[in-house]
Amino acid sequence: MARIVQKFGGTSVANTDRIKAVALRVKAEVDSGNQVAVVLSAMSGETNKLVEYVTSISKLYDAREYDAIVATGEQVTIGLLAIALQDLGVSARSWLGWQVPIHTDGVHGKARIERVETDEMNVRLELGEVCVVAGFQGIGPDNRITTLGRGGSDTSAVALAAALNADRCDIYTDVDGVYTTDPRITPKARKLEKISYEEMLEMASVGAKVLQTRSVELAMKQKVRVQVRSSYNDEPGTLVVDEDEIVEQELVSGIAYSRDEAKITLVAVPDQPGSAAAIFGPLADNGINVDMIVQNISQDNHATDMTFTLPIADLDRAVATLEGNRDVLQYRELRSDKDVTKLSVIGVGMRSHAGVAQRMFTALADKGINIQVISTSEIKVSVLIAEEYTELAVRALHTAYGLDSD
Ligand code: ASP
Ligand code: MG
Repeated sequence: MARIVQKFGGTSVANTDRIKAVALRVKAEVDSGNQVAVVLSAMSGETNKLVEYVTSISKLYDAREYDAIVATGEQVTIGLLAIALQDLGVSARSWLGWQVPIHTDGVHGKARIERVETDEMNVRLELGEVCVVAGFQGIGPDNRITTLGRGGSDTSAVALAAALNADRCDIYTDVDGVYTTDPRITPKARKLEKISYEEMLEMASVGAKVLQTRSVELAMKQKVRVQVRSSYNDEPGTLVVDEDEIVEQELVSGIAYSRDEAKITLVAVPDQPGSAAAIFGPLADNGINVDMIVQNISQDNHATDMTFTLPIADLDRAVATLEGNRDVLQYRELRSDKDVTKLSVIGVGMRSHAGVAQRMFTALADKGINIQVISTSEIKVSVLIAEEYTELAVRALHTAYGLDSD
C-alpha cells in the first residue's frame, strides 16, 4: 500500500466529462489499495476569467479581494470531483485551503506555503477516504484566503505530498512528460524518463512551462518524487528526482528557449566605480529582474557599453526608470530590442565535462547565428540570439548534443 498525491491541471478538469474521467483514474489507485489525496486546478480558462472580472472593475484592486475571487475556480472542481467519486462508490470529501488548513504567508496574490496541517487528513486517509484538495490557495495570517500565484496548484500538490509523507506526487497534465526540447519545434524531441530537480528548475525558469518553478524548488528541498504524466493515457511520464537516482547521466538533458526576453544597451556609460550599482539599483527597487549582463571593455578608458536582458513585460518600466535617471547615469544613448530569444543548454553532466559551451558556440556559428550575450551557471549555458533564428538554433543544438531520437 502506498500513499499518493495526484494533481490534475485545468485541461484535465475542463468539463464534467473530463472530471468523470479523473474520477476513474483516482478510483483505479484506490482499488489497488492506495491512500489517495487529490489536488485540483480550476477548469481551464476559469482563473483567467475570474482575473478579468477583477481587473475590469479596478486596475488597482485590493489583493485580498482578488484572492477571494480567483480562488473560487478550484472550489467548483473539487466539489464536482468528490461527487463523481461518490457516484462510483468511492468515499470522498472536498477540502478548501482553509479547511486543511494550508497556512501561507500574507503576500496576497503570490503567497508562499508555510505549513500544512495534516492531522485530520491523516485520519481520513487511513479510513480509506479520498481527500480532494483545492490547489492554488491557502489561508494567511490575517485569516483570509490567499492564492499562490498563477500555476500554483503544482506547488499545492508538492507541499501536500511533503506534509503527508506521500510515496509519490503524480502531476497529470496535457503533455505526457518533460521533453529534451519543445516537440513543436522538432519532432526529434524525446521524452525524458528521469530528470534531476536542478535541471528541471533551470528548464522551468527558462520557459519550459510544465511545472511552476516554485513547485520544483519545494520538491527539491523536501525530496518529493514528482512524476509528470499525461491525463490522456497510461504511459509512464517523466520522474523528477534527485541527481543520484539518475544512473546514466547525459551530458546535456535539454534545450530550452524563451522568447519573453528583451535586451537593453546603455551606450557610453562612464567607466567608474558605482556605475553598475547606479544602473541596477533602481531597477531592482522597481522589482525588475535583470538576467544576463555584459559590460564591454572601455573604449577610451572613460566610457563603456552595458548590455543586459530582462523580461519583455518589464521593458517599458525599465526604460522609464533608466530615462528618469539619465542625469545620474550619464549614458549617451539607450537602445532596446524585443526581438531576442534566450537559448539555454541544461545538464548536470557539464559539471564534470569541459567543452559543453564550445559545442554550443560552434553549432550556432555553423548556422551563421550571431551570439549577442552569453551567461553560464554550473549546469547551464545560455545565449541571447535574434528571435528569428529560434527554431533553427534549437534544432541545431538538439542535434549537436546528440539528443535527436532515431
Ligand atoms: N487555477 C490556477 C491558475 O490558473 C492555478 C493552477 O491551475 O495551477 O493559475
Ligand atoms: Mg499548470
